[in-house]
Amino acid sequence: MARTVVTGGAGFLGSHLCERLIRDGHDVVCLDNFVTGTPANVAHLVAEDGFQLIRCDVTDYVHVPGPVDNVLHFASPASPIDYLHLPIQTLKVGSIGTLHALGLAKDKGARFLLASTSEVYGDPQVHPQAEDYWGHVNPVGPRGVYDEAKRFGEALTMAYRRSHNVDTAIVRIFNTHGPRMRPNDGRAIPAFATQALRGEPITVAGDGSQTRSIIFVKDLVEGIVRLMRSDQPGPMNIGNPYELSILELAELVREVAKSDSPITFMPRPTDDPTVRQPDITLARAALDWEPVVDLRAGLESTIAWFRDHPDVR
Ligand code: UDP
Repeated sequence: MARTVVTGGAGFLGSHLCERLIRDGHDVVCLDNFVTGTPANVAHLVAEDGFQLIRCDVTDYVHVPGPVDNVLHFASPASPIDYLHLPIQTLKVGSIGTLHALGLAKDKGARFLLASTSEVYGDPQVHPQAEDYWGHVNPVGPRGVYDEAKRFGEALTMAYRRSHNVDTAIVRIFNTHGPRMRPNDGRAIPAFATQALRGEPITVAGDGSQTRSIIFVKDLVEGIVRLMRSDQPGPMNIGNPYELSILELAELVREVAKSDSPITFMPRPTDDPTVRQPDITLARAALDWEPVVDLRAGLESTIAWFRDHPDVR
């Protein structure tokens, strides 16, 4: 039986990973400091055999007694609003937190998987983005705290692989949506969905012509679990190549929510990437993986969750 540590396990992605691993028969140790995650995200798992929830800030120290087969390092503020409010914590968890999580994997002889991000590509000058593109990141802009923390985490992961022979993997996660996102996390889908459901104006940044490619959380988790079980080092893009403009996304969310909210326009945030689309050739070939949930079907489920949880903040 595999035993897997998930840092940030009570966050949006972490909680879906914990749930999937428990269903697959893993023992799961979920570590979280609950800064952006919440125990409510894993409350349904607490009674399961083999699930352990531990309050822990991985930037302090990580101690997990007993054997560990996998360390999945998912702890980090991840939405622009969160990392703009928590710039130092974001840099610390991407650097010191990654150091501690790698140290745990080294100590236990475990496979280590770093949750990296499409943000390492910054405002890309190559489109779509394949893993061999080095990116176009502004280190001193407000988003730099997240982008550079993840880039440092990737470098540290490769150093542990090369110098300490730790079995490592890096996944570059593209925009993801699904149940348990926080309505107020500032990302486009939670913002548009809650605005549409409340009949409030939908706030599109700029003229809405910037693009994103958005994957449903179930598809993402499948890709990550396959990467964990492979011997691939990555970095590997996991995302849905279906690309659309933010204005099209706003209109689609409004339609799925059966809302008549007006669309309003607000200034674009600093360094907001203009385009983003994953090249998933590598994941297709190495993991025999590709996304299967289309955007509309995924949005039905995400929007239903926001409708059913109006009080979540
Ligand atoms: N966005 C928007 N309105 C909002 C929130 C976000 O138009 O209320 C835009 C944002 O400027 C960006 C896109 O939607 O162009 C995706 O933003 P998100 O924060 O979801 O993800 P990221 O920028 O990290 O890809």
